[in-house]
Amino acid sequence: MSDIIVRFAPSPTGRLHVGNVRTALINWLFAKAQNGKFILRIDDTDLERSTAEYEQGIRDDLTWLGLTWDDSFHQSKRFGKYDEAVASLKEKGLLYACYETPDELERKRKIALSRGRPPVYDRAGLNLSDDEKAKLEAEGRKPHWRFKLSGNRVEWTDLVRGPQSIDSSSVSDPILVREDGSYLYTLPSVVDDIEYGITHVVRGEDHVTNSGAQIEIFLALGGTAPQMAHTPLLVGADGQGLSKRLGSLSILELSKRGIEPVAIASLLAKLGTSDNVEIRPSLEVLSEEFSFDKIGRAPARFDEEDLLKLNSNLVSEMSYAEAKAALDHALEGAECPDPEFFWETVKGNVSTVSEAGMWAKTLFGEIEAQDLPEDQDYLKAALGSLPSGEYDLETWGAWTNALKAETGRKGRGLFMPLRLALTGEGRGPEMNRVLVLLGEARAKARLEKAIS
Ligand code: GLU
Repeated sequence: MSDIIVRFAPSPTGRLHVGNVRTALINWLFAKAQNGKFILRIDDTDLERSTAEYEQGIRDDLTWLGLTWDDSFHQSKRFGKYDEAVASLKEKGLLYACYETPDELERKRKIALSRGRPPVYDRAGLNLSDDEKAKLEAEGRKPHWRFKLSGNRVEWTDLVRGPQSIDSSSVSDPILVREDGSYLYTLPSVVDDIEYGITHVVRGEDHVTNSGAQIEIFLALGGTAPQMAHTPLLVGADGQGLSKRLGSLSILELSKRGIEPVAIASLLAKLGTSDNVEIRPSLEVLSEEFSFDKIGRAPARFDEEDLLKLNSNLVSEMSYAEAKAALDHALEGAECPDPEFFWETVKGNVSTVSEAGMWAKTLFGEIEAQDLPEDQDYLKAALGSLPSGEYDLETWGAWTNALKAETGRKGRGLFMPLRLALTGEGRGPEMNRVLVLLGEARAKARLEKAIS
């Protein structure tokens, strides 16, 4: 193993969706490509919103996708470590108490903005004397704690965004500990990244603004800042944020809809990169092809249609053995004479394996009577010459050739009325295969039904 170590750090306050799982995937692909380690860190410092069910859900989703982890830990088990870091920062004079209420902070913000100044915290807390603090506490106020930024420029070379520079005097000193003693995400993340030897922090672009402060905290705690890679966020096909649609784009929902894990991984790995978006055979291949250099700066457009298209490409190549488990489920209750033959027939016409269930209903269930007034004589001729006995792949050709000779019809006029009468659909799988699956009795009954 190399010394590359990355982490994926979800908060267990919801299920994974295409947005946050993309971060997991990119971390995983990079770690595998470098023969490094992938750690699952559960960011559960928010004890009220985090649940064991969501955590289990996240583990299930990652496992389903094949994103296995080498190590895993909970932030909620590590408060002692964060307390130590707090003590060390206080000792260095880098963590100071502030007493403003949210309303007071908001007022300060508005005043700064109205004077045309950036709404940066004025460090009033830093200038409080011990007496003033004692007085505030005697009034019942509890402090929250801010990290004192250096005021210098923080620079790093982001593996996706290139050279980055944040003027730390232009941002507010970040709050690390709330009034009730609970931790915001910033400090625990740095403490853990140091202790677990994280070499690369790979996450969404929404965290770029945290990076300046976090790099300073790394240094303040005696660590070295890891390399950083901030990937553009996903947007919808319309260019808008995905937040409203994330429920239906959860990994759980997509899996229930029959989307294959490797289709999701292929799309999310290639989206917004210089590679083509296409089905790749496995996570291993995706990791061999992975490089931060390929990731573009523009928001990556996530279109559900692309996912369905990729999934149908994948499914249309799937062997019966690969499809069997989901197919058996889709075929429950259907009188399918030969599931393997059925699969080979319909797989080019479905975007998920479960959609094969619709074709099972179409082929083996009841279909609506077709209204084909123009074709009545033709359908009667078709019924008259319908072959009898066992059907095979030649039956359709023999039958339609005979009909062609008899009626003079050809092309669409020859085939479409038969397709409509036999399946109730204007498009679908090859008719020579459909006819084998229908068999004589069903074909006959359907033709009779279409003859009014
Ligand atoms: N829990 C944080 C999040 O989900 C982790 C951010 C990070 O990777 O540093 O946004």
